[in-house]
Amino acid sequence: MNEKKTAVVAIGGNSLILDKQHEDVDSQRKAVQETCRHIADMAERGWNLVITHGNGPQVGFILRRNELAAPQVHTTPLDLIGADTQGSIGYMIAQALRNEFQKRGLQKSIAGVVTQVLVDRNDPGFQNPSKGIGGFTSEENAREFEKEGWRVIEDAGRGWRRVIASPIPLKIIELDAIRTLVEQGFVVIAVGGGGIPVVEDEQGNLVGTRAVIDKDRATSLLAQELQVDLFLISTAVPQVAIHFNQPDERWLDHLTAHEARQYHAEGHFKPGSMGPKIEAVLSFLEVYPQGRALITDPPNIARALDGQSGTWIEV
Ligand code: ADP
Ligand code: MG
Repeated sequence: MNEKKTAVVAIGGNSLILDKQHEDVDSQRKAVQETCRHIADMAERGWNLVITHGNGPQVGFILRRNELAAPQVHTTPLDLIGADTQGSIGYMIAQALRNEFQKRGLQKSIAGVVTQVLVDRNDPGFQNPSKGIGGFTSEENAREFEKEGWRVIEDAGRGWRRVIASPIPLKIIELDAIRTLVEQGFVVIAVGGGGIPVVEDEQGNLVGTRAVIDKDRATSLLAQELQVDLFLISTAVPQVAIHFNQPDERWLDHLTAHEARQYHAEGHFKPGSMGPKIEAVLSFLEVYPQGRALITDPPNIARALDGQSGTWIEV
């Protein structure tokens, strides 16, 4: 067991895809390398690290590739796509970190863990799926998806789209493996894309399910289970604001859990972006009030750890 402090770091979509013009793999690699430089700063400062990441756009690309290739080759179910993206994104992160460590003379091993996350097959989300996935399409195509068992909706005049459930993560199946690796000093990459959602069947066997788990929620569960000193959410903004994008916008250096809850109730944190992050932080602090949470962007991580940037959230 090592005595260093441990951080769970959730890296957001901007660490992989900067914008619509930079979706190709070379650009993704560059974005990952840039983020990993800043994560390496943490390792250099002695942090134990567990890294999680999103996979939304990458899942969309694979679904599209499935559609185009359907006449020639079998399609990939969503749980396999989750596993595929954990592998490909985890690989890019592991390689970029290893190269960065090598440059700095840091001796640290890195391990990616393909992670399943248990959800309740009676989660209310399955009754009313609402998370859009993949691109927009025609009604005719949408009806074909329906025949394959997908739920489809017409999305406010923008076209037809598949929708799936976003159930609550209950249990990280590979938690023991992740914990052991961290205790042994490995940098661990886990719970990619929120984890591969699995349910228990009547016999207690795990089976993949067609859903996606919010990565901030799943990362929060991991941070709670590991009782980490720091839950760091690395996203596209250096700080959290109230009155975000309004003339009276105010960036926040520090928030108590109470203040965060209050501002959230007042609607300052958008659903689907900052909202889930604040909720993730609040549930972490509720379960582990000794912990600290930080929201910032990759270039500001080191400065934020020195108290010069980011938004710190503490009980
Ligand atoms: P990620 O891919 O990291 O999960 P998201 O786009 O889901 O990123 O969420 C981060 C985004 O949330 C920020 O880039 C910002 O545009 C938006 N946002 C919404 N409300 C706020 C707020 N109150 N303060 C700061 N950013 C906010
Ligand atoms: Mg997000």
